[in-house]
Amino acid sequence: MGDVIKLKPVRPCPICKKPSSQQHHPFCSGRCADIDLNRWLSGSYVIPAEPVEDDVEDGPPKPGQREDDD
Ligand SMILES: [Zn+2]
Repeated sequence: MGDVIKLKPVRPCPICKKPSSQQHHPFCSGRCADIDLNRWLSGSYVIPAEPVEDDVEDGPPKPGQREDDD
């Protein structure tokens, strides 16, 4: 006990599940790192693409708050 030095467990590449390489950690290759980057970019690209309705200055009157102009 104590003699065996355990190596760090090799984490699999999050993209293709192959053993990651030190050079491209935590990926197995630069290609997988690139794929991950693209996923990241395409993922964050969605957020600013959503319509922001809070920018509307004169929004529709809320029900129950408008006056009775009968
Ligand atoms: Zn990979």
